[in-house]
Amino acid sequence: MSIVTLQLPEVKACETSRPKGCPKCGGETFQRWGGSIRQVRDPHVREVLVYRYRCCRCRHVLRHYPSGVSPASQTARMRALAAIGWILGMSYRGVSRYMSGFGVKLGRMSIWRDVQERAKELKRERHWKPVRVLGIDGAYVRGWGETQPVLVAVDMGTGEPVTVGYVDEKDPQAVRKFLEPLVQRLGVSVIVTDDLFSYKQVADALDLEQQVCQFHLRRWVGRTLHELKDTLPPEWLGVIEETKTLIEELPIQGDRRLVELWRQIPETRQGRKGSELSPLDQLRFLLVRLAQHWSRYRVFDWQPDVPWTNNPTEQAIGRMKMRARTVRGYKTWAGMASGLMTAGVGVA
Ligand SMILES: [Zn+2]
Repeated sequence: MSIVTLQLPEVKACETSRPKGCPKCGGETFQRWGGSIRQVRDPHVREVLVYRYRCCRCRHVLRHYPSGVSPASQTARMRALAAIGWILGMSYRGVSRYMSGFGVKLGRMSIWRDVQERAKELKRERHWKPVRVLGIDGAYVRGWGETQPVLVAVDMGTGEPVTVGYVDEKDPQAVRKFLEPLVQRLGVSVIVTDDLFSYKQVADALDLEQQVCQFHLRRWVGRTLHELKDTLPPEWLGVIEETKTLIEELPIQGDRRLVELWRQIPETRQGRKGSELSPLDQLRFLLVRLAQHWSRYRVFDWQPDVPWTNNPTEQAIGRMKMRARTVRGYKTWAGMASGLMTAGVGVA
């Protein structure tokens, strides 16, 4: 578990600074034009003073809210607290009860709105923040009716989710449609993924560097080699051992060695008509595939800000799933996306 910092928005009872600019004309000088006391819902502040100002240029009168206060009755701090309770896995009733500990009454709907509002704030914050290395991974979360496929994009610099899409990761076109605007807006140049075919295709199409998660790679290559060990003629067991070592050590010229090993194996083309390849052909295909994608395994070796696994993305998804477990069915994708985004960040 990472270190949790709890930073709540500041709420001022009275704002000493003046408005920055007139929303109507952009004028920068104002005259104070009275003020009023407002009741707010907040754990520490009961009342705030809201001044009104008149623009000297166009005479528009505006309310100047203290920081953390808006036309809504809840302060920003209150909303954040409600969202945090929800992120930590409380039910709406639980959040409602926990808020009453702060002497504040909140209904189920208002907590729901707080979570949505928090997601919007996060989205605004993330919208233009550049991300050089983006982790992407698919997941299934419980949604309306049945489980829904989602695609989660995580800033590898901060480990925080950038966005969540209603996308099946196995569909290259859908993945591209999801990724292309993100890449352009955020200036992404490297993606970290597992080695599904769809990600490779999209990385190539969008001219992105790709780091394949080494956990995924080792897992499936290890499993494949293990199975081949039992079926291959014993004289090829040395190739299996060497391939395993290459994947573990990832030497720069590992692809060359893989091609050399591949050349040593006679092509059998056995069972080509059927769906089953001979064990020897399976080994040949494996070696070619690994050699072809070798550069995608080692981006982290020469780019220090690229991690060698997709762990941060999996952690964000884990937080989302934990939260999704306790939510009784979202009604809409928008509602679910907000919930997942808020949950994925954790308490930060
Ligand atoms: Zn004005």
